[in-house]
Amino acid sequence: MTKSKQFHTLIVAGGTGVRFPGATPKQYLPLAGKPVLRHALENLMKIEGMASLVVVIHPDHAALYDQAAMGLGLKAPCMGSDTRKSSVYNGLKSLSYLKNEDIILVHDAARPFVDKTSVAALIEALETHEAATLAVPVSDTLRRENGDQVNREGLWSVQTPQAFRFGVLKKAHETAPPGSYTDDAGLVAATGVNVKLVQGPKNNIKITVPDDLKIAESLLAGENRTGIGFDVHAFSDEPGRKLMLCGVHIAGARGLAGHSDADVAMHALTDALLGAIGEGDIGLHFPPSNPKYKDMDSRVFLVAACEMMKDRGGTLQNADITIICEEPKISPYRSTMQAKIAEILKIEASRVNIKGTTTEGLGFTGRGEGIAAQAIVTVKIVKP
Ligand code: MG
Repeated sequence: MTKSKQFHTLIVAGGTGVRFPGATPKQYLPLAGKPVLRHALENLMKIEGMASLVVVIHPDHAALYDQAAMGLGLKAPCMGSDTRKSSVYNGLKSLSYLKNEDIILVHDAARPFVDKTSVAALIEALETHEAATLAVPVSDTLRRENGDQVNREGLWSVQTPQAFRFGVLKKAHETAPPGSYTDDAGLVAATGVNVKLVQGPKNNIKITVPDDLKIAESLLAGENRTGIGFDVHAFSDEPGRKLMLCGVHIAGARGLAGHSDADVAMHALTDALLGAIGEGDIGLHFPPSNPKYKDMDSRVFLVAACEMMKDRGGTLQNADITIICEEPKISPYRSTMQAKIAEILKIEASRVNIKGTTTEGLGFTGRGEGIAAQAIVTVKIVKP
């Protein structure tokens, strides 16, 4: 993978939200328990290549901003002015250390669902253009209040983020003819720069009226996915081979054969996680043919699957693991295993369940030839 291009971000949060009822401006209203602005901040901050971020706020909103940005380690916000244009310009002045060719993204605080794919597409568009904006083609029929229909052919609804070469945006702010500009792409276009339209996702919505907040809440509700995993390892003849189950060393028990540490329960759990996110299985990602994985702590596989899940907007709801063997007895280790898995997955222990069972002396586990394990997980995927 090539290194992501660096970019800088300016978030415009100075609006007072005249179309939204209530005392709290919309960018500070709670959405799924967090201020709308915080969603935008967190989503932008996790995109690789984000080099610096400045938020322009209304001077009356300092306390609301501090609350929304708490713990994110951002530098002090920049104070806005009486128009959007002058607020953005204040933000640009605070970024005076940027070079003209540096990439700057301008984003509205009221769009919580900015995503890395769109940002990557905007940055790519700057390879051939000096400015680019997310936009979606208009699909509704458009009509004026006087009844005249408007031809929607070639019409796009413009979103943010918008991406610019810093020098181009700053110059546009300094030289654009007077006018009421509602976005920076419009302002830059007014100075004769060709702005590339990059199709954005429909769910990159702007919170403008109370219904938008309800739509945003439902987008965040996400969907639950289930994954199942099953694994078997035979007992090893190798003297001194350790038995690892759910990351816990079972002292005195016979170890299992395998390329890695042969933690059969953790393998089943890793497969369940990969299953829930549609990512194949453990062998696909960590082939046993790779000498790198020889005697590997299986925690590495589980952590990697967990990262893949998080990258896809997933949160693990629960994991239920069944270890099938005659020996050792699982119950004495249950709570240690539960704590270990919870620690690796960074979830509460109450979301992890460990069970041990036998096969009543039947089959390969009954004959004491090996250990089998099953795991099932539920993953909530939120993908706005
Ligand atoms: Mg295995």
